[in-house]
Amino acid sequence: MNLLIDLQCCTGCGACVEHCPGHVLSQDEEGRPYERYPDDCWYCGVCETECPAQCISLLFPYLIR
Ligand code: SF4
Ligand code: SF4
Repeated sequence: MNLLIDLQCCTGCGACVEHCPGHVLSQDEEGRPYERYPDDCWYCGVCETECPAQCISLLFPYLIR
């Protein structure tokens, strides 16, 4: 788990999924985002900055693989 996604504030807009350059994220059938391929995340922070509701936080420490 690389991110904290606050599903209480998430609107399901899909911006995080759309903008993630590593295609790490996906949405479930109810539109909730989740880390589909967490090992592919390189902590660029795009999902965090692109979320219009500011629901995503990168978790520290980073997992260096
Ligand atoms: S930090 Fe970057 S690579 Fe990781 S899920 Fe967010 S947008 Fe994708
Ligand atoms: S960008 Fe934010 S509000 Fe939109 S689906 Fe992702 S976490 Fe939810």
